[in-house]
Amino acid sequence: MSAPRDWTRDLRQWAPFLRGRLTFEQPLAPFTWFRVGGPAAVFFAPADEQDLAAFLARLPAEVPVQVIGLGSNLIVRDGGVAGVVIRLGGKGFGEITVEPGSRLRAGCGVPDVKVARVAAEAGIAGLAFYRGIPGSIGGALRMNAGAHGGETTDVLIEARGVERSGAIVRFSHAEMGFGYRASQAPADVIFTEAVFAGKPGEPAAILAEMDRITAAREASQPIREKTGGSTFKNPAGHKAWQLIDRAGCRGLRRGDAQVSPLHCNFLINCGAAVASDIEQLGELVRRRVQASSGVELEWEIKRVGVEP
Ligand SMILES: Cc1cc2nc3c(=O)[nH]c(=O)nc-3n(C[C@H](O)[C@H](O)[C@H](O)COP(=O)(O)OP(=O)(O)OC[C@H]3O[C@@H](n4cnc5c(N)ncnc54)[C@H](O)[C@@H]3O)c2cc1C
Repeated sequence: MSAPRDWTRDLRQWAPFLRGRLTFEQPLAPFTWFRVGGPAAVFFAPADEQDLAAFLARLPAEVPVQVIGLGSNLIVRDGGVAGVVIRLGGKGFGEITVEPGSRLRAGCGVPDVKVARVAAEAGIAGLAFYRGIPGSIGGALRMNAGAHGGETTDVLIEARGVERSGAIVRFSHAEMGFGYRASQAPADVIFTEAVFAGKPGEPAAILAEMDRITAAREASQPIREKTGGSTFKNPAGHKAWQLIDRAGCRGLRRGDAQVSPLHCNFLINCGAAVASDIEQLGELVRRRVQASSGVELEWEIKRVGVEP
């Protein structure tokens, strides 16, 4: 029987056909808010949608692909990711255009906060909630990101993406299948562009609302720490942070990983934590909450990669 083809060796020959950046054994920790995790066997930052589509079409179908955004809801495990990791860092994913009818078109590499700001300056109300979410538009579509009374589902008109086969696909709002911190769009789709609609508003009033959001965040969340945002989804009828607090987990530590004393649905890396410290602390919290309240917490943070 012949040995399986070394697809990473094949990929090294592709550079002339790609306009994006292709690297090997790329450390991923710097691309995550927690600053933990192992490398990607292959890492590709496509230049634009065409570059991404061409790459995926060429890539053997059996090679697993994982897209990451700004890594603000993500734990990369310490053994890293065995397949290809894609990150939309290229300029082709960074455009924002204001369109008639209080609409805004944004590439999926754009940070949410920039969408909030451009919308405010253009007098488009309804997107200010993105001010407080430190992810990218791609991550917002996958997670139905939301805060302060607004969610992605409230403002998204349509999205574009690339399937694992390399085919470019469009999704209407209904086809995105939004739910609580989730989208039912096929898991292999890498979103590339989104169109949002708000309502006409006064820029000064929207900017003031954004300032209020910033102040509220500063007071209630460890936004200057190495963290991953809300760790667990709020179970029906409960607030995850209250269950965690009642289970006595506020400030709980495992190595350099800690349940934030400020907001106990946030885990933080106090300095030298590794991914397994953070994940095992999360699992410990789940067990304690289950024991004290009978409620099973579900991870909101996405965990990717393997143990070493
Ligand atoms: C301090 C802090 C505060 C936060 N507050 C909030 C909040 O108030 N509300 C809220 O909803 N979230 C919050 N979060 C969580 C996080 O910011 C959101 O979930 C955000 O949408 C994740 O976007 P990201 O680009 O960082 O995605 P990542 O964390 O990199 O990835 C998250 C998921 O999205 C997928 N993904 C990323 N890009 C794409 C793409 N282009 N196409 C398809 N899938 C993609 C990834 O595969 C992964 O499954 C907070 C996080 C932090 C650190």
